[in-house]
Amino acid sequence: MITAAEIRETFLKYFENKGHIRQPSSSLIPRDDPSLLFTNAGMVQFKKIFQGQEQRAYSRATTSQKCLRVGGKHNDLENVGRTARHHTFFEMLGNFSFGDYFKEQAISFAWEFITKELGLPKEKLYATVYKDDDEAFELWKKVAGLPESRIYRLGEKDNFWSMGDTGPCGPCSELHIDQGEHMACGPDCGIGKCDCDRFLEIWNLVFMQFNRDETGTMTPLPKPSIDTGMGLERIAAVCQGVYSNFDTDLFVPLITAMADRAGVQYGESDDTDTALRVIADHSRSMAFLIADGILPSNEGRGYVLRRLIRRAFRFGRLMGMEQPFLYEQARAVVKEMGSAFPELLDNQDFMVSVIKKEEERFSQTLDKGLAILEQEMDRVRHKGGQVLSGEVAFKLYDTYGFPLDIVNDVTEKQGMSVDEAGFNTFMAEQKRKSKEAWSGSGEKDVAAQFARLLEAGMQTRFVGYDTLCATSRIV
Ligand code: ATP
Ligand code: MG
Ligand code: MG
Ligand code: MG
Repeated sequence: MITAAEIRETFLKYFENKGHIRQPSSSLIPRDDPSLLFTNAGMVQFKKIFQGQEQRAYSRATTSQKCLRVGGKHNDLENVGRTARHHTFFEMLGNFSFGDYFKEQAISFAWEFITKELGLPKEKLYATVYKDDDEAFELWKKVAGLPESRIYRLGEKDNFWSMGDTGPCGPCSELHIDQGEHMACGPDCGIGKCDCDRFLEIWNLVFMQFNRDETGTMTPLPKPSIDTGMGLERIAAVCQGVYSNFDTDLFVPLITAMADRAGVQYGESDDTDTALRVIADHSRSMAFLIADGILPSNEGRGYVLRRLIRRAFRFGRLMGMEQPFLYEQARAVVKEMGSAFPELLDNQDFMVSVIKKEEERFSQTLDKGLAILEQEMDRVRHKGGQVLSGEVAFKLYDTYGFPLDIVNDVTEKQGMSVDEAGFNTFMAEQKRKSKEAWSGSGEKDVAAQFARLLEAGMQTRFVGYDTLCATSRIV
C-alpha cells in the first residue's frame, strides 16, 4: 500500500522533474493578508506573484500546503464527520505556473500524474470544465483522450475558483473519480447534480486569469497562470482503496488512539463514529494552529481554535470522556505528522499545555450548559416549537462558553434548529457595549499577546518570518 507520505513525495518529485521548485508550506496564518482568516489553498503564499506585485527567480513551483477551512468563504466545519472527504485541516498538493505554462500543459501534467505515476484507472475518471470554457473541453479530449460523455460543463459554483471575495480567480477544471455505483446517493446522483461522495472530486486545476477587487470588478492578471490543488487525504484514500479519508493511514492511527482511550470501537455505532472522526479531524487542526502561533481566545483566529477544541471536547463527552483527553490526541498528531512538519515537534509541550488548559476550563461549564440546553429544548418542544431562541444560544455562549457550533450540533441531532440571526443580534449588542466600556486592545495587539505568553511563564523563540507570531514553548 502506498502511504500518504509516499504520495506527497511522489507528487513533489514528479513536479520537480518537470522544472518546478519545491517550496515549503507556508503558515496557516496568511502573511500580510488581512482579507483572509486562514490559508485555505496552496496559492495563498503565491498570491502577490499572481497579481504581478512580486517576482521570484522561478516561474514554476510545487508545494504541499497546510490548509484550514473553517470560517470565511470556504467553511467545511459542518461537513466534517458527515462526508467522507472534508476536513477542517488538510494538505493541498499543488503545482503552480507564474505566467509560464497554461491550460494544455496543466491538463497534461495532471493526467500523466494521475494515470501513470499513480496508475488510477482512466475509465473511472471524469473532468469538469467551466460552462463557456471550450478550450479546456477540447483539451481533455485531445490530451487525455476523454470521451465527451465524461466531460461536464458546470457553472460558477463548481467551476469558477476564487480564494475569497477579492483576489486572483479564474475558471477551473476538475478531475473526479467514480468510486462506484454502491456509493450513489440516489437516482439523481451525478457530477454537478448532487454533493455525495460517489464522484469524488480529487484535483482542481485553476486557470488563473483575473483579479477581483472590492467592487467585484474583474481585471485580467498580467500573465495567465496556473494554480492547482489536490487534497492529499482524498488522493490517499483513492490510492489506498478506501472510500473515506478517515480510513487512510493519515487518520487510522488517530482514530484508533481515540477509540482505545474511550473504550469504543470504530464502526460500532454512527454516533461514536462521527465523534471519533470529528475528534481526529479537530485534533489535527488544533495542533497545527497552535504550532503556527495561535492561542485560544474570544475573537478572530483564536476563537476558531477555541471553537475547535470545545467542539471536539463535547464530542468526547458523548463517548463518556470526563477528563481532558484532547491534549493526548495532539501528541498522537505530532507523532504521525511531526517528521513532515517539524514545527509540531518544536512546539509539542507548549501545544499540549495550551490544549489541556482549554479543556480544563471548558469542562467546568460544559455539564451545566448542556443541562440548560436540554431544559430549554424541552421547553420549546413542549410549546410545539422547533427553534431555540437566539437569546438562549447567546446565554450559553456568554455564561457557559458554548460556541454556537455546539448548540447547533446538539439541536440538530434532535431535529431542532437555532435562531442564528437572533444570536448574532445579541452578540453584536454585547460587542457594542464592551467597546463602549473598554477601549483597550484585543488579539490584534501582538505586543499584548506576547505579554500574556511571557506572564504565563513561556519563553519565546524567534522563528523567522514564516509565522505571524514567533512561536513559543516551555523551556
Ligand atoms: P468540495 O467540492 O469537495 O467541497 P472544493 O471544490 O471546495 O471541494 P477546492 O476549493 O477546489 O475544493 O480545493 C481543491 C482540492 O482540495 C479539492 O479538489 C480537494 O481535493 C481538496 N479539498 C478541498 N476542500 C477540502 C476539505 N475540506 N478537506 C479535504 N480536502 C479538501
Ligand atoms: Mg468545498
Ligand atoms: Mg467542488
Ligand atoms: Mg473544487
